[in-house]
Amino acid sequence: MEKVKELTVDLIKLGCKVTSCEPMRYHTTFRIGGNADLFVIPKDRFAFVKTVNFLEDVGIPYVILGNGSNVLFDDEGYDGVVISTQALKGLRIEGNRVEAEAGVKINELAVTALENSLSGMEKLFGIPGTIGGAVNMNAGSFGLEIGELVESVTVLFEGRVFTIGRENLEFSYRRSNISENRMKIISVNFKLVEGDHLKIKYEMNRYMNLRVENQPIDFPSAGSFFKRPKPDVPVGRIIDEAGLRGYRVGNAMVSKKHAAFIVNLGSASSRDVLKLAEIVREKVKFLKGFDLEMEVIYIG
Ligand SMILES: Cc1cc2nc3c(=O)[nH]c(=O)nc-3n(C[C@H](O)[C@H](O)[C@H](O)COP(=O)(O)OP(=O)(O)OC[C@H]3O[C@@H](n4cnc5c(N)ncnc54)[C@H](O)[C@@H]3O)c2cc1C
Repeated sequence: MEKVKELTVDLIKLGCKVTSCEPMRYHTTFRIGGNADLFVIPKDRFAFVKTVNFLEDVGIPYVILGNGSNVLFDDEGYDGVVISTQALKGLRIEGNRVEAEAGVKINELAVTALENSLSGMEKLFGIPGTIGGAVNMNAGSFGLEIGELVESVTVLFEGRVFTIGRENLEFSYRRSNISENRMKIISVNFKLVEGDHLKIKYEMNRYMNLRVENQPIDFPSAGSFFKRPKPDVPVGRIIDEAGLRGYRVGNAMVSKKHAAFIVNLGSASSRDVLKLAEIVREKVKFLKGFDLEMEVIYIG
Protein backbone atom coordinates (compact mmCIF):
# COMPACT_ATOMS: atom_id res chain seq x y z
CA MET A 1 0.00 0.00 0.00
CA GLU A 2 1.66 3.22 -1.22
CA LYS A 3 0.12 5.36 1.54
CA VAL A 4 1.87 3.21 4.18
CA LYS A 5 5.24 3.31 2.44
CA GLU A 6 5.06 7.10 2.30
CA LEU A 7 5.44 7.06 6.11
CA THR A 8 9.00 5.71 5.90
CA VAL A 9 10.74 9.06 6.42
CA ASP A 10 8.46 9.98 9.36
CA LEU A 11 9.13 6.64 11.02
CA ILE A 12 12.89 6.96 10.58
CA LYS A 13 12.71 10.43 12.17
CA LEU A 14 10.86 8.91 15.13
CA GLY A 15 13.80 6.57 15.75
CA CYS A 16 12.85 3.45 13.81
CA LYS A 17 14.79 1.19 11.53
CA VAL A 18 12.42 0.69 8.59
CA THR A 19 12.22 -1.91 5.83
CA SER A 20 9.49 -2.14 3.22
CA CYS A 21 7.91 -5.29 1.76
CA GLU A 22 9.41 -7.40 4.52
CA PRO A 23 8.51 -11.13 4.45
CA MET A 24 6.87 -12.07 7.73
CA ARG A 25 8.05 -15.65 7.40
CA TYR A 26 11.51 -14.32 8.38
CA HIS A 27 10.11 -13.01 11.66
CA THR A 28 7.91 -15.86 12.85
CA THR A 29 8.77 -19.27 14.25
CA PHE A 30 6.17 -20.81 11.90
CA ARG A 31 8.24 -19.50 8.93
CA ILE A 32 4.96 -18.56 7.20
CA GLY A 33 3.62 -15.21 6.02
CA GLY A 34 3.79 -12.79 3.12
CA ASN A 35 5.13 -9.25 3.09
CA ALA A 36 4.29 -6.48 5.53
CA ASP A 37 4.11 -3.07 3.84
CA LEU A 38 6.54 -1.78 6.46
CA PHE A 39 8.48 -3.56 9.18
CA VAL A 40 9.81 -1.15 11.79
CA ILE A 41 12.12 -1.55 14.77
CA PRO A 42 11.83 1.37 17.24
CA LYS A 43 15.30 1.86 18.77
CA ASP A 44 14.04 2.20 22.36
CA ARG A 45 10.90 2.53 24.50
CA PHE A 46 10.55 6.23 23.70
CA ALA A 47 10.66 5.59 19.95
CA PHE A 48 8.19 2.74 20.49
CA VAL A 49 5.69 5.05 22.20
CA LYS A 50 6.11 7.75 19.57
CA THR A 51 5.69 5.23 16.74
CA VAL A 52 2.47 3.75 18.11
CA ASN A 53 1.02 7.20 18.81
CA PHE A 54 2.01 8.43 15.35
CA LEU A 55 0.34 5.46 13.61
CA GLU A 56 -2.79 5.94 15.73
CA ASP A 57 -2.87 9.63 14.75
CA VAL A 58 -2.52 8.98 11.02
CA GLY A 59 -4.92 6.02 11.18
CA ILE A 60 -2.64 3.42 9.62
CA PRO A 61 -3.15 -0.22 10.72
CA TYR A 62 -0.31 -1.70 12.73
CA VAL A 63 0.46 -4.76 14.79
CA ILE A 64 3.03 -5.31 17.55
CA LEU A 65 5.38 -8.25 17.09
CA GLY A 66 7.53 -9.82 19.78
CA ASN A 67 9.40 -12.94 18.72
CA GLY A 68 6.58 -14.04 16.40
CA SER A 69 6.27 -17.41 18.16
CA ASN A 70 2.52 -17.35 18.66
CA VAL A 71 1.29 -15.83 15.42
CA LEU A 72 0.33 -16.97 11.93
CA PHE A 73 0.63 -14.29 9.26
CA ASP A 74 -1.40 -14.73 6.07
CA ASP A 75 0.39 -15.63 2.84
CA GLU A 76 -0.95 -12.36 1.41
CA GLY A 77 1.03 -10.45 4.04
CA TYR A 78 -0.04 -7.48 6.12
CA ASP A 79 -1.38 -4.18 4.74
CA GLY A 80 0.09 -1.91 7.36
CA VAL A 81 3.03 -1.55 9.72
CA VAL A 82 4.51 -4.34 11.81
CA ILE A 83 6.24 -2.87 14.88
CA SER A 84 8.92 -5.14 16.31
CA THR A 85 9.89 -4.83 19.98
CA GLN A 86 13.25 -6.52 19.37
CA ALA A 87 15.28 -3.44 20.42
CA LEU A 88 13.45 -2.97 23.75
CA LYS A 89 16.03 -4.92 25.68
CA GLY A 90 16.36 -3.13 29.04
CA LEU A 91 16.70 -5.40 32.07
CA ARG A 92 17.09 -4.02 35.59
CA ILE A 93 17.40 -5.93 38.86
CA GLU A 94 16.86 -4.62 42.38
CA GLY A 95 16.87 -7.27 45.08
CA ASN A 96 14.29 -9.83 44.00
CA ARG A 97 12.50 -7.46 41.65
CA VAL A 98 13.24 -7.41 37.94
CA GLU A 99 12.07 -4.89 35.37
CA ALA A 100 12.23 -6.23 31.81
CA GLU A 101 11.37 -4.32 28.66
CA ALA A 102 8.91 -5.89 26.22
CA GLY A 103 11.52 -7.23 23.78
CA VAL A 104 13.58 -9.15 26.35
CA LYS A 105 13.32 -12.88 25.61
CA ILE A 106 11.94 -15.20 28.28
CA ASN A 107 15.18 -17.16 28.16
CA GLU A 108 17.27 -13.99 28.69
CA LEU A 109 15.20 -13.14 31.74
CA ALA A 110 15.48 -16.71 33.05
CA VAL A 111 19.28 -16.73 32.64
CA THR A 112 19.62 -13.30 34.30
CA ALA A 113 17.45 -14.53 37.16
CA LEU A 114 19.72 -17.58 37.50
CA GLU A 115 22.83 -15.39 37.52
CA ASN A 116 21.28 -13.48 40.41
CA SER A 117 20.07 -16.64 42.20
CA LEU A 118 16.45 -15.64 41.72
CA SER A 119 13.87 -18.39 41.40
CA GLY A 120 10.53 -18.27 39.53
CA MET A 121 11.34 -18.51 35.83
CA GLU A 122 12.52 -22.14 35.75
CA LYS A 123 9.31 -23.66 34.34
CA LEU A 124 9.07 -21.01 31.62
CA PHE A 125 12.67 -21.48 30.46
CA GLY A 126 12.52 -22.58 26.83
CA ILE A 127 9.34 -20.73 25.78
CA PRO A 128 10.63 -18.93 22.67
CA GLY A 129 8.82 -15.64 23.23
CA THR A 130 9.46 -12.12 24.47
CA ILE A 131 8.22 -10.70 27.75
CA GLY A 132 5.69 -8.53 25.87
CA GLY A 133 4.22 -11.44 23.92
CA ALA A 134 4.27 -13.79 26.91
CA VAL A 135 2.63 -11.40 29.37
CA ASN A 136 0.04 -10.33 26.81
CA MET A 137 -0.91 -14.01 26.27
CA ASN A 138 -0.22 -15.11 29.86
CA ALA A 139 2.07 -17.83 28.52
CA GLY A 140 2.72 -20.75 30.79
CA SER A 141 4.05 -24.24 31.15
CA PHE A 142 4.35 -27.06 33.66
CA GLY A 143 1.54 -25.54 35.71
CA LEU A 144 2.95 -22.02 35.96
CA GLU A 145 1.60 -18.96 34.15
CA ILE A 146 3.84 -15.92 33.71
CA GLY A 147 1.10 -13.66 35.12
CA GLU A 148 1.74 -15.24 38.54
CA LEU A 149 5.19 -13.64 38.61
CA VAL A 150 4.04 -10.18 37.46
CA GLU A 151 3.76 -7.32 39.92
CA SER A 152 2.85 -4.60 37.43
CA VAL A 153 3.02 -3.79 33.74
CA THR A 154 3.88 -0.46 32.15
CA VAL A 155 1.70 0.02 29.09
CA LEU A 156 0.86 2.54 26.44
CA PHE A 157 -2.88 3.10 26.53
CA GLU A 158 -4.72 5.68 24.46
CA GLY A 159 -1.60 7.71 23.89
CA ARG A 160 -0.35 7.74 27.49
CA VAL A 161 1.93 5.60 29.60
CA PHE A 162 0.47 3.92 32.72
CA THR A 163 1.71 1.35 35.21
CA ILE A 164 -1.02 -1.16 36.04
CA GLY A 165 -0.95 -3.64 38.93
CA ARG A 166 -1.46 -7.35 38.31
CA GLU A 167 -4.86 -7.24 40.03
CA ASN A 168 -6.20 -5.12 37.18
CA LEU A 169 -4.84 -7.22 34.30
CA GLU A 170 -7.33 -10.12 34.56
CA PHE A 171 -4.81 -12.88 33.94
CA SER A 172 -6.43 -16.22 33.19
CA TYR A 173 -5.54 -19.23 31.03
CA ARG A 174 -3.65 -17.83 27.97
CA ARG A 175 -5.32 -14.45 28.35
CA SER A 176 -5.08 -11.02 29.96
CA ASN A 177 -7.08 -7.89 29.24
CA ILE A 178 -4.02 -6.21 27.69
CA SER A 179 -4.67 -6.63 23.97
CA GLU A 180 -8.44 -6.66 24.49
CA ASN A 181 -8.02 -3.09 25.73
CA ARG A 182 -5.55 -2.27 22.94
CA MET A 183 -2.77 -1.69 25.49
CA LYS A 184 0.85 -2.07 24.36
CA ILE A 185 3.36 -3.46 26.83
CA ILE A 186 6.46 -1.33 27.31
CA SER A 187 7.94 -3.15 30.30
CA VAL A 188 7.01 -5.58 33.05
CA ASN A 189 7.93 -5.65 36.73
CA PHE A 190 8.40 -9.16 38.08
CA LYS A 191 8.72 -10.30 41.66
CA LEU A 192 10.91 -13.38 41.97
CA VAL A 193 12.17 -15.13 45.10
CA GLU A 194 15.70 -15.62 46.33
CA GLY A 195 16.82 -19.19 45.74
CA ASP A 196 19.74 -21.55 45.49
CA HIS A 197 21.78 -21.06 42.31
CA LEU A 198 22.49 -24.75 41.71
CA LYS A 199 18.91 -25.79 42.37
CA ILE A 200 17.56 -23.14 39.97
CA LYS A 201 20.03 -24.28 37.30
CA TYR A 202 19.10 -27.93 37.82
CA GLU A 203 15.37 -27.16 37.48
CA MET A 204 15.91 -25.04 34.35
CA ASN A 205 17.78 -27.89 32.70
CA ARG A 206 15.17 -30.41 33.80
CA TYR A 207 12.28 -28.42 32.27
CA MET A 208 14.27 -27.67 29.12
CA ASN A 209 14.97 -31.39 28.68
CA LEU A 210 11.26 -32.19 29.08
CA ARG A 211 10.50 -29.66 26.33
CA VAL A 212 13.08 -31.12 23.98
CA GLU A 213 11.76 -34.64 24.66
CA ASN A 214 8.09 -33.79 24.14
CA GLN A 215 7.89 -30.91 21.66
CA PRO A 216 8.55 -31.05 17.90
CA ILE A 217 11.25 -28.39 18.00
CA ASP A 218 12.87 -29.80 14.85
CA PHE A 219 10.06 -28.27 12.73
CA PRO A 220 8.84 -24.66 12.53
CA SER A 221 5.62 -24.11 14.49
CA ALA A 222 3.91 -21.61 16.76
CA GLY A 223 3.72 -23.95 19.74
CA SER A 224 0.40 -25.46 20.77
CA PHE A 225 -2.05 -24.40 18.07
CA PHE A 226 -5.21 -24.71 20.18
CA LYS A 227 -6.05 -23.85 23.76
CA ARG A 228 -6.96 -26.57 26.23
CA PRO A 229 -10.76 -26.84 26.06
CA LYS A 230 -10.94 -27.48 29.84
CA PRO A 231 -8.31 -27.19 32.58
CA ASP A 232 -7.94 -30.97 32.94
CA VAL A 233 -8.20 -31.85 29.23
CA PRO A 234 -4.84 -31.75 27.41
CA VAL A 235 -5.51 -30.63 23.85
CA GLY A 236 -2.85 -32.90 22.35
CA ARG A 237 -4.53 -35.96 23.83
CA ILE A 238 -7.97 -35.28 22.37
CA ILE A 239 -6.55 -34.46 18.93
CA ASP A 240 -4.63 -37.72 19.14
CA GLU A 241 -7.73 -39.65 20.23
CA ALA A 242 -9.60 -38.16 17.25
CA GLY A 243 -7.06 -39.97 15.05
CA LEU A 244 -5.40 -36.84 13.74
CA ARG A 245 -1.78 -37.32 14.77
CA GLY A 246 0.25 -36.96 11.57
CA TYR A 247 -2.77 -35.68 9.56
CA ARG A 248 -1.62 -33.42 6.77
CA VAL A 249 -2.88 -30.65 4.50
CA GLY A 250 -0.24 -29.63 1.98
CA ASN A 251 2.89 -29.07 4.02
CA ALA A 252 1.11 -28.40 7.32
CA MET A 253 0.87 -31.42 9.61
CA VAL A 254 -0.47 -32.28 13.06
CA SER A 255 2.80 -33.14 14.75
CA LYS A 256 3.49 -36.85 15.18
CA LYS A 257 5.47 -36.04 18.33
CA HIS A 258 2.92 -33.76 20.06
CA ALA A 259 -0.55 -33.56 18.49
CA ALA A 260 -1.28 -30.08 19.94
CA PHE A 261 1.32 -28.64 17.56
CA ILE A 262 0.75 -27.94 13.87
CA VAL A 263 4.14 -28.03 12.17
CA ASN A 264 5.41 -26.60 8.92
CA LEU A 265 7.13 -29.40 7.00
CA GLY A 266 8.62 -26.84 4.60
CA SER A 267 6.97 -23.98 2.69
CA ALA A 268 3.51 -24.64 4.16
CA SER A 269 1.07 -21.84 3.39
CA SER A 270 -1.18 -20.09 5.89
CA ARG A 271 -4.06 -21.59 3.88
CA ASP A 272 -2.70 -25.13 4.52
CA VAL A 273 -2.50 -24.39 8.24
CA LEU A 274 -5.97 -22.85 8.49
CA LYS A 275 -7.55 -25.65 6.47
CA LEU A 276 -5.86 -28.27 8.66
CA ALA A 277 -6.96 -26.39 11.80
CA GLU A 278 -10.55 -26.38 10.55
CA ILE A 279 -10.47 -30.14 9.92
CA VAL A 280 -9.05 -30.69 13.43
CA ARG A 281 -11.77 -28.51 14.97
CA GLU A 282 -14.57 -30.27 13.08
CA LYS A 283 -13.32 -33.77 13.80
CA VAL A 284 -12.65 -33.07 17.49
CA LYS A 285 -16.12 -31.52 17.84
CA PHE A 286 -17.75 -34.50 16.11
CA LEU A 287 -15.82 -37.27 17.84
CA LYS A 288 -15.01 -35.76 21.23
CA GLY A 289 -17.60 -32.99 21.66
CA PHE A 290 -15.11 -30.21 22.41
CA ASP A 291 -15.01 -26.78 20.74
CA LEU A 292 -11.36 -25.97 20.14
CA GLU A 293 -10.27 -22.34 20.21
CA MET A 294 -7.07 -21.21 18.48
CA GLU A 295 -4.23 -20.18 20.77
CA VAL A 296 -2.19 -18.96 17.81
CA ILE A 297 -3.15 -15.48 16.61
CA TYR A 298 -3.94 -15.26 12.91
CA ILE A 299 -2.95 -11.94 11.33
CA GLY A 300 -4.62 -11.44 7.96
C1 LIG B 1 8.46 -24.51 20.05
C2 LIG B 1 7.47 -23.61 20.78
C3 LIG B 1 7.14 -23.89 22.10
C4 LIG B 1 6.21 -23.09 22.79
N1 LIG B 1 5.92 -23.41 24.08
C5 LIG B 1 5.03 -22.64 24.74
C6 LIG B 1 4.69 -22.96 26.11
O1 LIG B 1 5.21 -23.89 26.71
N2 LIG B 1 3.77 -22.16 26.71
C7 LIG B 1 3.18 -21.11 26.09
O2 LIG B 1 2.36 -20.42 26.70
N3 LIG B 1 3.50 -20.80 24.82
C8 LIG B 1 4.40 -21.53 24.13
N4 LIG B 1 4.71 -21.21 22.84
C9 LIG B 1 4.04 -20.07 22.19
C10 LIG B 1 4.78 -18.73 22.32
O3 LIG B 1 6.18 -18.95 22.41
C11 LIG B 1 4.32 -17.93 23.53
O4 LIG B 1 2.94 -17.64 23.47
C12 LIG B 1 5.11 -16.62 23.64
O5 LIG B 1 4.85 -16.06 24.87
C13 LIG B 1 4.76 -15.61 22.55
O6 LIG B 1 5.67 -14.53 22.66
P1 LIG B 1 6.16 -13.73 21.36
O7 LIG B 1 7.07 -12.65 21.80
O8 LIG B 1 6.70 -14.65 20.35
O9 LIG B 1 4.78 -13.11 20.89
P2 LIG B 1 4.30 -12.84 19.40
O10 LIG B 1 4.00 -14.15 18.74
O11 LIG B 1 5.23 -11.93 18.73
O12 LIG B 1 2.93 -12.08 19.70
C14 LIG B 1 1.86 -12.75 20.33
C15 LIG B 1 0.74 -11.73 20.58
O13 LIG B 1 1.18 -10.80 21.56
C16 LIG B 1 1.11 -9.47 21.03
N5 LIG B 1 2.25 -8.73 21.56
C17 LIG B 1 3.56 -8.98 21.42
N6 LIG B 1 4.31 -8.05 22.06
C18 LIG B 1 3.42 -7.18 22.62
C19 LIG B 1 3.55 -6.01 23.40
N7 LIG B 1 4.76 -5.51 23.72
N8 LIG B 1 2.44 -5.37 23.80
C20 LIG B 1 1.20 -5.85 23.49
N9 LIG B 1 1.01 -6.95 22.74
C21 LIG B 1 2.11 -7.62 22.32
C22 LIG B 1 1.18 -9.62 19.52
O14 LIG B 1 0.57 -8.52 18.87
C23 LIG B 1 0.40 -10.90 19.33
O15 LIG B 1 -1.00 -10.62 19.38
C24 LIG B 1 5.63 -21.99 22.13
C25 LIG B 1 5.97 -21.70 20.82
C26 LIG B 1 6.89 -22.50 20.14
C27 LIG B 1 7.25 -22.16 18.72
